[in-house]
Amino acid sequence: MTTNDNKFQEIISHAKEYGFVFPSSEIYDGLSAVYDYGPYGSELKKNIRDYWWKSMTQLHENIVGIDAAIFMHPTTWKASGHVDNFSDPMIDNRDSNKRYRVDHLIEGLADKLKDEGKTQEADELIAEMDRLLAADDYAGLKDLIAKNNIVCAISGTGNWTDIRQFNLMFSTQLGSVTEEADTIYLRPETAQGIFVNFLNVQKTSRMRIPFGIAQTGKAFRNEIVARQFIFRMREFEQMEMQFFVRPGTEGEWYRYWKEARLQWHLSLGISPEKYRYHDHVKLAHYAKEACDIEFEFPIGFKEVEGIHSRSDFDLTQHQQYSKKKMQYFDNDVDPATGKPFGNYIPYVVETSIGLDRMFLLILSESYETETLTKEDGSTDSRVVMHIPAKIAPVKLAILPLVKKDGLPEIARELMNECKPHFRCFYEEKDAIGKRYRRQDAIGTPFCVTVDHQTKEDQTVTIRHRDSMQQERVSLSAVREIVSKNII
Ligand code: ATP
Repeated sequence: MTTNDNKFQEIISHAKEYGFVFPSSEIYDGLSAVYDYGPYGSELKKNIRDYWWKSMTQLHENIVGIDAAIFMHPTTWKASGHVDNFSDPMIDNRDSNKRYRVDHLIEGLADKLKDEGKTQEADELIAEMDRLLAADDYAGLKDLIAKNNIVCAISGTGNWTDIRQFNLMFSTQLGSVTEEADTIYLRPETAQGIFVNFLNVQKTSRMRIPFGIAQTGKAFRNEIVARQFIFRMREFEQMEMQFFVRPGTEGEWYRYWKEARLQWHLSLGISPEKYRYHDHVKLAHYAKEACDIEFEFPIGFKEVEGIHSRSDFDLTQHQQYSKKKMQYFDNDVDPATGKPFGNYIPYVVETSIGLDRMFLLILSESYETETLTKEDGSTDSRVVMHIPAKIAPVKLAILPLVKKDGLPEIARELMNECKPHFRCFYEEKDAIGKRYRRQDAIGTPFCVTVDHQTKEDQTVTIRHRDSMQQERVSLSAVREIVSKNII
């Protein structure tokens, strides 16, 4: 196991131990690739969602939000192409009966080659895979697997079936009488709820192109290879925004959103070296351009967000299947003709990020086991989560030094002053050092200690999580200090 594998395992254990993420229905041994968020996890997840929502809908005057249902009319998925095409190329090993996604199998070998320092060989392998995937050349992909002696991790053999497509949508029945019930799907993405509501939103909000519609919500995919913790789940949450533009301007808007989305990530203070773009070689037939924003997780560089220039494909499809016009009337004057642009189906640039993946990104980036050198030269260690203050689950811990002498009363007063404004945590049990460590482990950026001096001069000690620096500040300044650091 490499050090990074160890780090990933440590993060998973830490997430469980401190109430961030639990395996779903754990008392029944869990459910594969399904997870529950605990008290600190649900708080962090909500804060990430709110941060995204605010940046999209509050900071962009031309983007509005919706909250569409998970269930949609089944024709939606026929029109979107998901019924026929939402599948991954899979291959089975005949000896272990284990099923693999073909791209994961080949990428696994590429990662191994990179670990061995054979970067060029790895890059060539990925380039060849991309070329074959783009051409839907399954025989070629099978040859590539054979040529590189890729074997099943369980059986150790290369006894592979042919490559087949496997649809990832979950289906269920709507209606109580089974024979008459309609098959419907659990949405595999939130985007279609935006497309089918395009005109409802445009008209009721009186939006003019260019404008966007944002949505966050659950999506479901029957992932075949569902592992790596919350990186790939069967039930997950997406934060998507569809930006509707005039045909011909999609290139500039694609570049705008590609840059703007990376800036959103960097605005959380995450180092740029941890990010890279991956421009797609294999494009859907309707797509004009597409890229992933990749982050260096402990399991390697992986996609966290996709930016896609989708032409007028989705709206045209829905117009065709629903027989309802999906056109927009643009009365801006076209300088080329001197007349209004008139009716057209808008083009779409989409930004799509997985909330759970963003959560994992924050855990991966924040988690650190720090070695501390004490004054006497001996060493100690602490586990600290450097979660950006604006999304940290708890912003301020209020800690009376002792449980007596009127200190809890002062601390409680401070708690009452601050808790309507941001999330606070109050604790009087255990030695102060232990209490600091517990707050470090959940990523609380500020701790305030109320001690005997507080009674005399109305000052407290404020401790900064990352530097562990402590300073004496006025009790009345605490709320303001925290507030200005969490915007
Ligand atoms: P991948 O190649 O990893 O399967 P994708 O290209 O199919 O992802 P999209 O359909 O573009 O992903 O979905 C947009 C975003 O939703 C992804 O960038 C990712 O953050 C998130 N996402 C997709 N599938 C999952 C999943 N199974 N579990 C968690 N997040 C997911």
